[in-house]
Amino acid sequence: MDHEKIRQAARMIIEAVGEDPSREGMKGTPERIAHLYEEVFCGLKEDPDRVLDTVFTEDYDEIVLVKDIPFFSMCEHHLLPFTGKAHVAYLPSGKIVGISKLARAVDHFARRPQVQERLTNQIADLITKVLEPRGVAVVLEASHTCMTMRGVKKPGSSVTTSAMRGVIRENVATRNEVLGLIYGRSN
Ligand SMILES: [Zn+2]
Repeated sequence: MDHEKIRQAARMIIEAVGEDPSREGMKGTPERIAHLYEEVFCGLKEDPDRVLDTVFTEDYDEIVLVKDIPFFSMCEHHLLPFTGKAHVAYLPSGKIVGISKLARAVDHFARRPQVQERLTNQIADLITKVLEPRGVAVVLEASHTCMTMRGVKKPGSSVTTSAMRGVIRENVATRNEVLGLIYGRSN
């Protein structure tokens, strides 16, 4: 990533809005923004094939669900954060992955300019590709700063997206079981 270019761009934005980038409180801001962007966009330079790199052979064939994975991403339309929780479930078919790797898959795709819909699909598609499970469900609930602090200004609103694959998409009972586990309902 071009640290110096981000620094210059941040300085130019500060000047362009009519602020003084040399005043005490702001003179470190371009440098801080460069570090910040390097961190929040670090998913761009990671290899997705190495995200789910610890796969085990196991004949467990019931639902695996990781709930309430916190995530932070940046909306690609405004470069403002959207943050929330991800729920990731799959129905294994002979292969399982370390639980923490599912959270890592969320982070990998979140840490780049994104839209929530694509983020949801990318997580589901990576799990499908690597684990070849019978089914996958990814549900994201997020609050978008570009909606809560600007434009229509709807604080408290949240956006839910879901990506279902395989039997979780095709079979209503299986899908309801997964959604029941995510939302804490008994079936
Ligand atoms: Zn936005």
